Amino acid sequence: MQWRSNAIVFMRRGIKTRRAVVIGGGLAGLAAAYRLDQGGWSVLVLEKEPRVGGRCRTERDGGFQFDTGVQFFRDSYDSVLKTAVSLGLGEEFRMPPWGKCIFGQGKAACFTPRSVNPLKLLPWRALGLKGVLDVPSTALPLLLKYRAYNIKLPQWWDRGDQVTAREFLSGRTTRAYRRTIAGPVALYAGGAELERVSAAAFMVALRTTFADRTVGFHSGVGALADALAEQVEVKTGIEAVELHRSGSAVTGVRARPRGGGRARSYHADVVVCALPAPMVCPVTGKLGRKAQSVIKSTEYSPGIVVNLGFSGEVKGEVGPVLLSAADGFYASWMCTQGSKAVEYAPSGGSVVTVLIAGEQASGLYARSDRELIEMALGEAGRVYGLEGLTRRRGRVDRHPLARPVASPGYSERVRELATAGSGIKNLLLAGDWTSSPTAEGAVASGFLAAEVAGLSA
Ligand SMILES: Cc1cc2nc3c(=O)[nH]c(=O)nc-3n(C[C@H](O)[C@H](O)[C@H](O)COP(=O)(O)OP(=O)(O)OC[C@H]3O[C@@H](n4cnc5c(N)ncnc54)[C@H](O)[C@@H]3O)c2cc1C
Repeated sequence: MQWRSNAIVFMRRGIKTRRAVVIGGGLAGLAAAYRLDQGGWSVLVLEKEPRVGGRCRTERDGGFQFDTGVQFFRDSYDSVLKTAVSLGLGEEFRMPPWGKCIFGQGKAACFTPRSVNPLKLLPWRALGLKGVLDVPSTALPLLLKYRAYNIKLPQWWDRGDQVTAREFLSGRTTRAYRRTIAGPVALYAGGAELERVSAAAFMVALRTTFADRTVGFHSGVGALADALAEQVEVKTGIEAVELHRSGSAVTGVRARPRGGGRARSYHADVVVCALPAPMVCPVTGKLGRKAQSVIKSTEYSPGIVVNLGFSGEVKGEVGPVLLSAADGFYASWMCTQGSKAVEYAPSGGSVVTVLIAGEQASGLYARSDRELIEMALGEAGRVYGLEGLTRRRGRVDRHPLARPVASPGYSERVRELATAGSGIKNLLLAGDWTSSPTAEGAVASGFLAAEVAGLSA
């Protein structure tokens, strides 16, 4: 799968003179490679794991499909969905008819995205005077007009990038609203608590939760990474360890097989580094001042995904269900396979995915797989009722760097990084942290890196 047929690669190389090496075979790296390949470059992707996809991978076990990181795309993800269509994955799309739910007072209250009037998203009854005065100038225009999913705030709402969602909502909303709606939404769509995400990121999270429909693929979200990898030359199990530099330019990448063996060097006219922020400098060495400072201030939120495979069908086709820590949940949300595709389980079976995010995940990180599976079973039982089902499979994936947190100052840092670049002309940075902390942000950042490479070559 990872190596294209030698003949095709040879034919392509025959007419390609510019060579790019991409470090990291997640969505960002693969998207960059795909675009560069289309633009006439000869491209090689180096991925340290045995499989591509990074945080967007689907694993198969006993007839079940488990998404190990990303769970859903949204129907507003332009780069992701257009790419999927251009790769022939149109038939793979699955837009579940069921709404999303918020669990409270012992039951899941469901809503259908877009059926909700945006005005209803605002906590009218909860608003204090200050909140009411702010609505026309901030919240309402954002909710009504915000269509871009990279966190590009309207110029006039810089303040939203400067304060936390907690600061913004305190005094403007009731504790009950923050506990039952705002908190779960921040964790579900933003990957972190109200104390950590900026008010601007929270507004985006509100909008994507209530207005966007979720999109899954029949064969799992990892189908996108796999399809991208089919288009380019990828070496898996190869870890980039350093860059070769000559003066102020990069000339290549040194990499070694993870399973042992000799390191070798790959020449490159351009290198795209598509790694999570904390992994960049150990490979690239020192970068420009701005890039170093953005990397240093990019915080990550951890996440744990527990996938459970059952024989027997979970009652009620709902999902995803947002959960509140205040109701005693460790998980921030869960879903059944119906909210993605029926193919997630063999006939007569079910998959339940339980996602623990933010602070709760840090507290549980050291727990064994067995304990986490038990915990997930308990929580899934409270939400779905699992009577009569037999568990067949359980899988735990821990992500210390699950998602970059769009904390105060995030949008400003992303803008500054886009202007300053890496500080080295032919070294481009990509990855969700350079754009927005989503699959869409990752793909868009890869496309942008490829475009800049074309301009700088
Ligand atoms: C639990 C979880 C749930 C999520 N849910 C959603 C969701 O529902 N919707 C959504 O839009 N987003 C979601 N996200 C976020 C989404 O997964 C990421 O934004 C996106 O996948 C990041 O892609 P990337 O290419 O930037 O980074 P990665 O996927 O991290 O890719 C980096 C790659 O580099 C490789 N690598 C690392 N070091 C080296 C090296 N030295 N040499 C070679 N290769 C190396 C890694 O193995 C990896 O494959 C979720 C993330 C997590 C963890």
